[in-house]
Amino acid sequence: MDEATIQAGLKRYFKFNEFKSELQKRAVTEICQRKHDVLVSMPTGSGKSLCYQLPAVLHEGKITIIFSPLLALIKDQIDHLIALRIRAASLNSKISNTEREALIADLKSTSPNTRILYVTPEQAATPTFKALYQNLLNFNKIAYLVVDEAHCVSEWGHDFRPQYQKLGELRDNVDVPCIALTATANAEVTKDIISSLRLAKGYKLFKTSCFRSNLFYDVYFPNMLEDSFKHLKDFISECLDEQSEKDLPKDQKSCGIVYCRTREQTEVLMERLNKMGVRTLCYHAGLKTMERTTFQEKWQNGDVPVICATISFGMGVDKATVRFVVHWGSPKEPASFYQESGRAGRDGKPSRCRVYYNRSDSKAIEFHLMQDLARAGSKENKKKRMEQTVKGFKKILEFCENPTECRHRLFSNHFGEPPPKCIDKCDFCVDKKKVQEMVEQFLTKSIQ
Ligand code: ADP
Ligand code: MG
Ligand code: ZN
Repeated sequence: MDEATIQAGLKRYFKFNEFKSELQKRAVTEICQRKHDVLVSMPTGSGKSLCYQLPAVLHEGKITIIFSPLLALIKDQIDHLIALRIRAASLNSKISNTEREALIADLKSTSPNTRILYVTPEQAATPTFKALYQNLLNFNKIAYLVVDEAHCVSEWGHDFRPQYQKLGELRDNVDVPCIALTATANAEVTKDIISSLRLAKGYKLFKTSCFRSNLFYDVYFPNMLEDSFKHLKDFISECLDEQSEKDLPKDQKSCGIVYCRTREQTEVLMERLNKMGVRTLCYHAGLKTMERTTFQEKWQNGDVPVICATISFGMGVDKATVRFVVHWGSPKEPASFYQESGRAGRDGKPSRCRVYYNRSDSKAIEFHLMQDLARAGSKENKKKRMEQTVKGFKKILEFCENPTECRHRLFSNHFGEPPPKCIDKCDFCVDKKKVQEMVEQFLTKSIQ
């Protein structure tokens, strides 16, 4: 299929003038050829659905089957497609018998109207679906098998669904290209997706690089600073630059997050910063629901620029103007550190990610991890997962106490990507010698 056809389809069916990204365009173009299996790994909101929906409508006369984990997600997708006048339907336990029969009759007809069929993994395991599937295969009517939220196949993922693991069986001896999509970039999860869904040799991977070139990373040691609170305050003032933003609407003003390890720390730090003139709130699970919501809203709409929070803060937080994220104490492991610090600079503007690292915090984390590991006992899966976390934590220790390479490599290594061209986006690349001297002093002081 040629580029002009694809471009015209984008406009005609989806009313978009251009692709959202070069990666989206390349993925769609590859998928349209139906030559290879494809794995699309892009963050939430990057437009993964279009990567299969556009090819699906362009292959007239054939049906695309999408496995999707939740009825709510499916409903949103179908409403959206129907509004665009694309024939989409879902086979699930919630539809009436009449609806189901009509849908199946259409799918089995010589020229079905249905273009896109959403199925939950539970439904995929039923005899009704299996019979239908076999029928569609026999008449060569399937364009693609799509697995959305494909990380659900993996026990390493955050929402493993046992039913997802069975989807691979549908591919045995079947010659229909498989398209897997996920927002989880972790190397283990990716490996699981490839093997579980039996992506064929030569499958194509379309993956957003994890390198965020607008984020500057550095690490400081509070016990080597004359006044670590003042140091933090100066950093915040520098990042926020309130003077130059005084005429901006409040929700467009710069803001930041300070992640703390404990509830107490968030409160102590909040008080300190407020005393020094930095308007700050706190957020942790110990607050009353009302308070927590109010604080989050005040930060979200720009009334108060800084929030000291435990890592429970962030789910659903999507603010473009976060200019800094501080970890006051050691982050836990590369993936969560990436996610937490990555809340900075969503608008693409230069932003800062800083760790104030101290030994006592990391000792505390280590202690908890070891306890968790011991508790996992003989539960094989849990143990495996915990061991992974311990390994991740050791990487953080090294990142802070023994840096030997660009800070961004912590992430590229973790996500199995080649090292990024950082040049001046971290303290190490800017001045390696200075970092190493600081670390040496820290280590000498810590041993004393
Ligand atoms: P993901 O599944 O990656 O989280 P979605 O497929 O839900 O992302 O898409 C996110 C948003 O991007 C949707 O509102 C979608 O309509 C929009 N979108 C997708 N492709 C384009 C495009 N080419 N141009 C503009 N908006 C797009
Ligand atoms: Mg999606
Ligand atoms: Zn670097």
